[in-house]
Amino acid sequence: MRQSILACLAGSLALAACQQATAPQDASTQDQTATAQSGGDRVTTADINEADLRHRIAALADDVFEGRAPATDAGRAASDWLAEEMERIGLQPGYGDSYFQPVPLLEVTLDPEASSFDIAHEGAPLGLNMSDDVVYWTKLAEDDVEITESELVFVGYGVVAPEYGWNDYEGIDVEGRTVVMLVNDPGFMNPDGELFNGNAMTYYGRWTYKFEEAGRQGAAGAILIHQTAPASYGWNVVSGSWTGSQLDIVREPGTGSFASVESWVTEDTARQLFALSGLDFDSLTAAAAQPGFQAVEMTGLTASGNLVNATRTLDSRNVVGVVEGTERPDEFLLYTAHWDHLGTRMRFDTDDHIYNGAVDNASGTAAILEIGEAFAANPPERSVMILAVTAEESGLLGSAYYAANPIQPLAQTVGGLNIDAMLPTGRARDVVVVGYGASELEDILTEEAAAQDRYIAPDPNPEAGYFYRSDHISLARQGVPMLYADGGFDLREGGREAGEAMGANYRANRYHAPGDEYSEAWNMEGMVEDVTLFYAVGSRVANSDDWPNWYEGNEFRALRDAQRPE
Ligand SMILES: [Zn+2]
Repeated sequence: MRQSILACLAGSLALAACQQATAPQDASTQDQTATAQSGGDRVTTADINEADLRHRIAALADDVFEGRAPATDAGRAASDWLAEEMERIGLQPGYGDSYFQPVPLLEVTLDPEASSFDIAHEGAPLGLNMSDDVVYWTKLAEDDVEITESELVFVGYGVVAPEYGWNDYEGIDVEGRTVVMLVNDPGFMNPDGELFNGNAMTYYGRWTYKFEEAGRQGAAGAILIHQTAPASYGWNVVSGSWTGSQLDIVREPGTGSFASVESWVTEDTARQLFALSGLDFDSLTAAAAQPGFQAVEMTGLTASGNLVNATRTLDSRNVVGVVEGTERPDEFLLYTAHWDHLGTRMRFDTDDHIYNGAVDNASGTAAILEIGEAFAANPPERSVMILAVTAEESGLLGSAYYAANPIQPLAQTVGGLNIDAMLPTGRARDVVVVGYGASELEDILTEEAAAQDRYIAPDPNPEAGYFYRSDHISLARQGVPMLYADGGFDLREGGREAGEAMGANYRANRYHAPGDEYSEAWNMEGMVEDVTLFYAVGSRVANSDDWPNWYEGNEFRALRDAQRPE
């Protein structure tokens, strides 16, 4: 595999060979492939423009990079391409004399043929089907993982939140048992704002938190019930994302406790389980969203499984380039975007197995390169770090690794902007801030947006928890003020109706699907305007000696104040 890709990347002559080997491609795809491979003759300019963004999105989303999975040769080739591009546009290596910060990852690949996981009622297996009824995996770095007749317990949302006086594990010992949990948090069912953060999902609503907490509680198995509304994505995303290799950061022995088997089941399967143990699904899940909920034994149900895995550790890379500041070079403004996506996945409903990730996140990666190129041509007073992180799709791993192993001290990191998944919707009057009302960076954004005759607005889907679903959160959780904004839905042509229709279409048909592909037909005007805005915000910060902070009362303010005492 490595040999053939390198042959292709070495120059257009080999191009003819590759294409013959693969399915015939249409004209525009051939241009894209040429763009991706012919490194030498890339032509971009220092101003922020459509052609540059198209060029880079087309290159990164090209089939040749096979969906940029972090642990693959094609993914590695994509990160090579990124480093070449950083060097070409005048960014300095950001990790010593290298553009690569190695990120050690643990890859665990389940062998679905040799593995089994099922639930039995009174000892009789139900015969759950992988992908249709359940998806399961393990985070343990072991070739063989087993659980046997582990009793099921429904623990509601599976949350321990002292600040909300909430503990779903109160009064029950789940050591060695299998917990069954709901996705999102109790605020979702009580949008009036009385519980948790109302309709805006908290970190407690995220699948990452649920499995972390189940592990901390000593559970042997953890089952998350998929429901489309509270999850904000369909079962197709679950079966697409959690089958195949699973990545995690390499953990020191004894750190990070996980249930042996982690899994999702469909709502239908969950309803079947509740009925078999004589429980009413609707009334019990409603009760789970009320204070005082008590965990419930799912009598007669046990989980057993034998997971056969191939495990290996490997190095993926954060790709990092720097523009050195002219006045205060030891102060850094950060731009982040994840370069990885889902790679290739076997599907039975289409021949297209490549998850190109054009919107998610070739768009954001192209944007931070374009911004880096503009700063390289016009260096500001402070330094600017362009950080393309890896393994976001596996749980924000590259950014979590950076935040735990920062190249530049976080106390010297003034703040940052994260760009993830820009939709080619055309120009919008609004700019959506995910996690609206968090930091003083929004004050600068408001002013710069006004200069474009635009206004900033909260995320219209706070229940989806996007604030906890991209790389800014890894830095924010270490105290660094981070802004995650995106073009909005109030389109200049077609208004909110058109914008929301495009958003819904993307979520339904292309989010984490092979259909997320680049097209020459994309309307890039909105993206160009947004990237120009994000550059303007950064330029304000990088040419000032202000230290924007989180607003008073924000969950990360105390961390920052401790990091940067006056
Ligand atoms: Zn993304």
